[in-house]
Amino acid sequence: MASHIVGYPRMGPKRELKFALESFWDGKSSAEDLEKVATDLRASIWKQMADAGIKYIPSNTFSYYDQVLDTTAMLGAVPDRYSWTGGEINLSTYFSMARGNATVPAMEMTKWFDTNYHFIVPELAPSTKFSYSSHKAINEYKEAKALGVDTVPVLVGPVSYLLLSKAAKGVEKSFSPLSLLSSILPVYKEVIAQLKAAGASWIQFDEPTLVKDLESHQLSAFSAAYSELESALSGLNVLVETYFADVPADSYKLTSLSSVTAYGFDLERGTKTLELVKSGFPAGKYLFAGVVDGRNIWADDLAASLATLQSLEAVVGKDKLVVSTSCSLMHTAVDLVNETKLDDEIKSWLAFAAQKVVEVNALAKALAGQKDEAYFSANAAALASRRSSPRVTNEEVQKAATALKGSDHRRATTVSARLDAQQKKLNLPILPTTTIGSFPQTVELRRVRREYKAKKISEEEYTNAIKEEISKVVKIQEELDIDVLVHGEPERNDMVEYFGEQLSGFTFTANGWVQSYGSRCVKPPIIYGDVSRPNPMTVFWSKMAQSMTARPMKGMLTGPVTILNWSFVRNDQPRFETCYQIALAIKKEVEDLEAGGIQIQIDEAALREGLPLRKSEHAFYLDWAVHSFRITNCGVQDTTQIHTHMCYSNFNDIIQSIINMDADVITIENSRSDEKLLSVFREGVVYGAGIGPGVYDIHSPRIPSKEEIADRVNKMLAVLDTNILWVNPDCGLKTRKYAEVKPALTNMVEAAKQIRAEL
Ligand code: GLN
Ligand code: ZN
Repeated sequence: MASHIVGYPRMGPKRELKFALESFWDGKSSAEDLEKVATDLRASIWKQMADAGIKYIPSNTFSYYDQVLDTTAMLGAVPDRYSWTGGEINLSTYFSMARGNATVPAMEMTKWFDTNYHFIVPELAPSTKFSYSSHKAINEYKEAKALGVDTVPVLVGPVSYLLLSKAAKGVEKSFSPLSLLSSILPVYKEVIAQLKAAGASWIQFDEPTLVKDLESHQLSAFSAAYSELESALSGLNVLVETYFADVPADSYKLTSLSSVTAYGFDLERGTKTLELVKSGFPAGKYLFAGVVDGRNIWADDLAASLATLQSLEAVVGKDKLVVSTSCSLMHTAVDLVNETKLDDEIKSWLAFAAQKVVEVNALAKALAGQKDEAYFSANAAALASRRSSPRVTNEEVQKAATALKGSDHRRATTVSARLDAQQKKLNLPILPTTTIGSFPQTVELRRVRREYKAKKISEEEYTNAIKEEISKVVKIQEELDIDVLVHGEPERNDMVEYFGEQLSGFTFTANGWVQSYGSRCVKPPIIYGDVSRPNPMTVFWSKMAQSMTARPMKGMLTGPVTILNWSFVRNDQPRFETCYQIALAIKKEVEDLEAGGIQIQIDEAALREGLPLRKSEHAFYLDWAVHSFRITNCGVQDTTQIHTHMCYSNFNDIIQSIINMDADVITIENSRSDEKLLSVFREGVVYGAGIGPGVYDIHSPRIPSKEEIADRVNKMLAVLDTNILWVNPDCGLKTRKYAEVKPALTNMVEAAKQIRAEL
């Protein structure tokens, strides 16, 4: 009976790690306190998997921040600016790389494939020296072993590590981090030797880049790496784990590598991979079949998975087939047990990480001839109830969304005509200043929202408290002399949940958190049915905010693609259909805001992360995603300024689609990525709409100086027209403190004013 879990959520069922980390960062608890929480979490996860009967239990999938950063620490690849002097990397160096410190900014962070998880991008140079500097993998292996659990230690594979790295600043253009392969392998060998000596019999290398479109030299690097490691690995069973998509046929050929004993594939998304396996799998190797979806919260269709597994048994052999998850379970919620308020019927349709572990094991048992009939029939009954439930279907919505297909939706005039009309009305200075939407979420605010939700304070008390906060935020912005204001989003816990709560077709969990970056978690809503907007969602607050100032106010909405990408989406209809339904709901909100005389920002923070990993699928996705965005605002007047915001910088590959969104102004992340963004414009792409590449990083507590901001703005002016450039931070300010936000924004506005005066 062979079952395996690729990886498991780290935060804990009630986000125990988050609270421990934040208290440590705030200096409220010691390193020992933090380590204790971490040790307890790891122990309970291993025990849970062991109790469930899982055979191959992962270790080293825990992390204080990020598994790629852990690998950077393992390799001792600490950028010089952190002044690390060698030895085992301590928490202070580790967290400085992750979050920056008072004097040095953090390392770049970017999305992990097409998930909402972010990793810390390694910065490498030809001169980078590698040395074995974090013994985390061996320590965790031993820790589990001491608890009686023999685990499969998991490492980020050497080739994926390098392919996910970037060249450090100032390094020659021709340098490719992959050229450092032979320099990092000696460290991997040391780690492998220690694991072997400690008694490990399996090792897992996560090589998710194998699902991407790779060039032949990159594929050769895989063969080179694993043959170089061959002698070190001898005596160990080696699992190369891939996930998130189909493995292209060229990469699939790597299954013949002699040092590798087992391959893990995502068979949930990898339908073509399934065909490849069926048409041939190397004799004697193990197949770790990822049939239980690690990216979603739906109960598995056990009968269907069992049928798939049985068909694979014939190909790979009974004793070589291992039932697994499609990817690490860190991309799904932790445990359904804690969802006491969820509707019972909907709950029966779901499985979180803890339940998926049980599903994996049940499938393995069934394959071994010990099928738990009661468990399988309960699963079949739940799936049947989901298929036929009337709460899933809304005919009217279905019809409206179907009618959209094939048609185009665009604003009637060109962006330059609209910008003129808007300028006449708004009369903004050049280099207008604005922010992205949220202002600091204070403890007090969270308390007010929580107590209102728990009905401990009245509607009136709540409204007054929020009104007071909005008025405070408006006043601060006026004092700072910001040009286009926001209301600060004090009524929102989260930019997707807030909308989901007011749309039909959505449901919510109490503890369904998923790690986004570091200690930050998101609680994606669950879209289980057709989506509609019964009532206005934001108009009350945005109108209130606009009434407090003569300056233009942006009403904040979350765009359909972002709502889709940051939710757990139903798997019983194509994603684009769900997206069009959400777009129609947001369109209604846009119309109501416009009628209230408010400018509008439609955040599409997650548009790019939904981009399929394979190039062949990009055009289709971008087409319906951009179309969905345009549906929301195609009907507004020229004088209504539509802003959008995006939280990433490597958008060079989708710039045409961003232009095609046809927004009037885009604010976009820039400051953590060394001007990758600006290079698009340097290379001649013409952007006619307003654009505000973030002038400072809001992910870090560091306060940027006026000079530094002015310097960035000047760099932007070198490639962008003066009359389209906006000045704004990278993203919303909700995770920052007022003590950071006020001086940072003061410097930002002063920098803008100084440059205006110089122009
Ligand atoms: N308007 C949101 C905010 O300011 C946008 C957040 C985001 O892009 N992630 O918080
Ligand atoms: Zn953002």
